[in-house]
Amino acid sequence: MSADPRRRIPRTDHLLAHPDVAAAAQVLSEHVVRGIVRGAQERARRGEIAAEAVLEEIRSALGGRPAGSLRPVLNATGVIVHTNLGRAPLSPAARAALQDAAGYTDVEFDLAAGVRSRRGAGARAALLAACPEAEDALIVNNGAAALALATTALAGTDEVILSRGELIEIGAGFRLPELITSTGARLREVGTTNRTHLADYTAALGPSTGCVLRVHTSNYRVIGFTSEVAVAELAGPCREAGVPLVADLGSGLLEPEPRLPAEPAAAAALRDGADLVIASGDKLLGGPQAGILLGRAEIIARLARHPLARAMRADKLTLAALEATLRGPVPPVLEALRLDPDALRERTAALADRLGGRLVAHEGRVGGGGGAEVPLPGWALALDPALAAPLRTGDPAVVATVRDDCCLLDLRCVPAEEDARLEAAVRTARTRLDPAGAQR
Ligand SMILES: *Cc1c(COP(=O)(O)O)cnc(C)c1O
Repeated sequence: MSADPRRRIPRTDHLLAHPDVAAAAQVLSEHVVRGIVRGAQERARRGEIAAEAVLEEIRSALGGRPAGSLRPVLNATGVIVHTNLGRAPLSPAARAALQDAAGYTDVEFDLAAGVRSRRGAGARAALLAACPEAEDALIVNNGAAALALATTALAGTDEVILSRGELIEIGAGFRLPELITSTGARLREVGTTNRTHLADYTAALGPSTGCVLRVHTSNYRVIGFTSEVAVAELAGPCREAGVPLVADLGSGLLEPEPRLPAEPAAAAALRDGADLVIASGDKLLGGPQAGILLGRAEIIARLARHPLARAMRADKLTLAALEATLRGPVPPVLEALRLDPDALRERTAALADRLGGRLVAHEGRVGGGGGAEVPLPGWALALDPALAAPLRTGDPAVVATVRDDCCLLDLRCVPAEEDARLEAAVRTARTRLDPAGAQR
């Protein structure tokens, strides 16, 4: 046996040829596999592991490791459209559609005729079926892209008329006024923070008006001495002036949602006379990230012709998932929104029976800049706050809320069929926290 233990470290070519290591090529690139092999050899060279343990170290580093780093999360926060957790979870129908579209697919091809076809025709048709008030529809990458495209194509370097009560920041420093002016359009602010009148708009309408924009103040409310001008009131003056009226709804509701009476719906805005409506695909619509534009055929055509439309076009996966969301069963976002508090209480109490902890009243939220200030009555299981960290780093990862010195698990956004996995995750987290097995 050699005096230098490092000489016993298996050679790279031997390790790469080992069946377990070679099998990893099914899911990981050669570059990644070589990196893992080299890492284990390095550790052995530094004396951190024995030379004999190198193969085992590589096996465990490769073990079940997916090529991507995004991990599935059980959202136990009660926040339905959780931006940090990827907003809307897709319905099973949308997930299946993603799988089907992942390879070659007829996204821009007519299989019957054997010729090129309109891109995303299926998703467009599904939108028009779900919102018959719209003459045409266009799908881009996200709501922000839809707004930038609309104001750029309709206003160019002319003015976008917008109420001072709607100069909003959506999140993480994303300010709509800055987005609008970033492509050259000029902002013509009218009214005041709390009150804007029809006369403020009509006084601003003129030859340099590109469009009038109404923005739903999704994530905050102005209350008290306030007034705003409804789309229905603006429609007449805009039509007379020959200026398009654009309504940015944010949320993506196509039809009114009884649980959220203050949330505007696309169908109503179009009926009220908006020429163009903008919405996100992954908020209350419950689909993939997308920017949805619905409205008059002539306006949609102007947008689709603009060079920016190509830079913002939705990919095949988005189109597939959006169409399936629209044509499939109620998506998880709306299911979570409409959840019966008694059913939630029953599930939470059952979990408390099995795990211990206290059943407490807990309000869910719409989140994602929708349904501001609308509480969703519900329940949570209150556990030791120290569990939050091992829950987050466990498998499955569970994200809970820590408040009032409790780790709160809200089941609203956890699919009922995952309750057993959630229970197991809590047990594992307790063991990691306290291997001696004390109940927390
Ligand atoms: C969320 C939101 C946007 C941005 O949409 P994204 O899909 O997040 O890009 C724009 N306007 C309003 C009113 C919104 O609520």
